[in-house]
Amino acid sequence: MGVALGLKKDELKNAKEYVNEVLALVKKKNPGETEFHQAVEEVLHSLIPIIAKHPVYMDNGILERLTEPERLITFSVPWVDDNGKTHVNRGFRVQFNSALGPYKGGLRFHPSVNASIVKFLGFEQILKNSLTGQPLGAGKGGSDFDPKGKSDGEIMRFTQSFATELNKHIGPDIDIPAGDTGVGAREIGFMFGQMKRLRGAYEAGILTGKGLEYGGSLVRKEATGYGTVYFLNEMLKDAGLSLNGKRVTVSGSGNVSIYAMEKAAESGATIVACSDSDGYIYDPSGIEIATVKRIKEEEGKRISEYLKTHPGAEYHSGCSGIWSLPCDIALPCATQNEIDENDAQMLVKNHVLAVAEGANMPSTKAAKDLFVKNNVLFAPAKAANAGGVAVSSLEMAQNSMRLRWTFEEVDQHLQKIMKNIYQETKKASEEYGYPGDLSVGANLAGFKRVADALVSQGVV
Ligand code: NDP
Repeated sequence: MGVALGLKKDELKNAKEYVNEVLALVKKKNPGETEFHQAVEEVLHSLIPIIAKHPVYMDNGILERLTEPERLITFSVPWVDDNGKTHVNRGFRVQFNSALGPYKGGLRFHPSVNASIVKFLGFEQILKNSLTGQPLGAGKGGSDFDPKGKSDGEIMRFTQSFATELNKHIGPDIDIPAGDTGVGAREIGFMFGQMKRLRGAYEAGILTGKGLEYGGSLVRKEATGYGTVYFLNEMLKDAGLSLNGKRVTVSGSGNVSIYAMEKAAESGATIVACSDSDGYIYDPSGIEIATVKRIKEEEGKRISEYLKTHPGAEYHSGCSGIWSLPCDIALPCATQNEIDENDAQMLVKNHVLAVAEGANMPSTKAAKDLFVKNNVLFAPAKAANAGGVAVSSLEMAQNSMRLRWTFEEVDQHLQKIMKNIYQETKKASEEYGYPGDLSVGANLAGFKRVADALVSQGVV
């Protein structure tokens, strides 16, 4: 890397030492937060060449400032279930970095949510939002509440209680939350209604992912899944390949998965498998996406139901087995660390051509290294799944202008943004001596914009 940039040994050595010092500090200050450590470690190691080339970042303590959230808010969320029993969950909002704009990032309701998870997601969001080119800072949040098996009334009471506290910390120019795992249009609607009452004002710009009837944007629902496939298409095209006729495995069957499947199928691929947290379905002749939509979006049932209308398909309990299926392209769209080294080995053995991450940090570092080593085309999450937040930004723009763009207009913007992210990512990977490694390219390209903004804004 140093050779490509004409860097001296000393410059690289200083940069490495600085990165290692900051990493040690992050681990010391955030004990036991393994997902946060994992995300920071992956990013910081890849920044060594840019730090060596621009000592101004070291002089301005940019890495210390990027890895320490500007604010971490935790709060209790009391709510009453249908039997009159009181429960208390924990709510989080991390307002990680505001160098480029107001804090922006989703809310996750899942029992695994804790400070480590929201910090890893918030940290990744800094570079992802920067890559979109939109004026967005970074935040993330959620609760350890488990929506599974809860009635609509319970979801509403919990969400209203969560929104009552979160409302104190957000605003159209401060922090604009959106959805993530376990938080879809229904939950955003309940939050918006509650916040509207509390604020005594109709401020469309306080949340994104809103319903179309009250300020939501067309394509927001589809944006992350579609965006992942737009990025994938660019990557394949560059390698002289296309999705046409390819077998695609998609993990999960939630918001990101469904629209990744839809767009991949539109591009001529056959979706051979998808999953939920209980198991996966496999149908080499092609999964019918309309049925998956009905089961998951409309009925909120388990993916195993698919076999009732498609008895020719197979259902297997447990989710990680999905990566042992032969496929040309893998789209992990469910959750963090869902592809480990063994899973990656099976995919490589089955001659996978490309992996594009729809979920956040779905591949472990060992898995990612294995893909790169075996020349598998690899689209890293923070670049490939940035379409969701990009369209959230377009939703904010439409809210400010008090108008609504057509589906085609928003989709055109999304395609342009994803193409641009691909090009910037590729360019940065080549400029800093890592051709073909888009993970490093995404970190470098995302970092540069935020780091320069932080330098310009001074230490306050
Ligand atoms: P959803 O809640 O809509 O869907 C998540 C899906 O993943 C569900 O089908 C869920 O199954 C399944 N799942 C969860 N854990 C596992 C597992 N271990 N193995 C297999 N399947 C599993 O969430 P989203 O689609 O919104 O988010 C998915 C990922 O994409 C997350 O990493 C999120 O952070 C990321 N992301 C989402 C964005 C968005 O706009 N929504 C934007 C950018 C990133 P079950 O039904 O059983 O719970």
